[in-house]
Amino acid sequence: MFGLLIIAMFIFVGVVFYIVKIIVLQLEQNADEDVLRSKHTFQEIIEQKDQAYAEKARLEKDAAQIFTLYEMTKDISCRLNEQESFNIFRQKLKENIAMEDCQLVVNGDPRAQETFVSGGYFMFVLKSKEEQLGYLLYKGVPQRDQEKFAILGHQFALALRRIKLYKDIERLAVTDSLTDVYTRRYFLERFEEEVQRASVRKIKLAFLMLDADHFKMINDQYGHLTGDYVLREVALIIKENIREIDIVGRYGGEEFCVVLPETDVDGARLVAERIRKAAEKRVIKAYDTSIRITLSIGVSLYPGDGKQVEELIDKADWSLYRAKTQGRNCTVVFGLYSAS
Ligand code: GH3
Ligand code: MG
Ligand code: MG
Repeated sequence: MFGLLIIAMFIFVGVVFYIVKIIVLQLEQNADEDVLRSKHTFQEIIEQKDQAYAEKARLEKDAAQIFTLYEMTKDISCRLNEQESFNIFRQKLKENIAMEDCQLVVNGDPRAQETFVSGGYFMFVLKSKEEQLGYLLYKGVPQRDQEKFAILGHQFALALRRIKLYKDIERLAVTDSLTDVYTRRYFLERFEEEVQRASVRKIKLAFLMLDADHFKMINDQYGHLTGDYVLREVALIIKENIREIDIVGRYGGEEFCVVLPETDVDGARLVAERIRKAAEKRVIKAYDTSIRITLSIGVSLYPGDGKQVEELIDKADWSLYRAKTQGRNCTVVFGLYSAS
């Protein structure tokens, strides 16, 4: 009986031990699964962290690029001159990417091809809205900076286009559309500046007023369109016979005016006669007809005939009137005429 009890107890302990072992094993298995899950989660977190770092690095790179773009655009967009704008652009390029050299070539510059071929340069075309504005010749830009160079290059092309548009508008505002010389208003501004300059530097200046003779007859005979053509030719004749520093304007219908800085009476007379003779000689071929035109010219001089713009205009106008009454196609210099 006692023996049976002992055996039952062993069996009971064995069963309990077995059950406990199964439970422990189950718990261990659960714990292993938890550890595995945790490892997996940890791995995911590490991967997410790496992705976040990569994203942060990318965003920082983008932000730096945008900031550079913004800084560069801000600095170059307030410049109204191509070379000035380019100097700033090049400075920004050097600050932001590694490169050896970069040069701006505007359209039609003959040096360009030479530099390109002989100097081992690469070419970046500066284009905006399909219009080619010129190009950049560059060398020594490493592969990793090529994309950045292209982005900055495009921004510079936009700045160039803005400068060009601004210049076009400025030119249109001060240029007479028919004859391509200065408008009366702008001419008078420039005239005023030149008189101020002559006054400060104590130098002479001459003012010419030129009027086409019997121009009404040309219109009557050949029509207004041909008259326009002849006026354009008169403006060309004037421009062909003066210096780069001289200023030409259209004063009224068929009247032009010229300021000759640093010019005395002899110089003024010489220029006026040169223009007059050139006009007299020119056979203007307009729409199947050959037309000749003559000019009457009145001249006044600073400071002898006046120290103010208005006075100089009055004296030249008076001289022009004399030239007309003397038979046209001639030059009258105020000082010389009034003294005789
Ligand atoms: P004068 O020798 O005394 O200067 O005689 P003129 O016929 O040249 O002078 P007038 O002042 O009598 O006539 C000027 C003419 O110029 C009249 C006008 O129709 C013409 N004219 C003015 N502006 C223009 C223009 O833009 N185009 C054309 N075709 N003619 C113009
Ligand atoms: Mg006239
Ligand atoms: Mg007139």
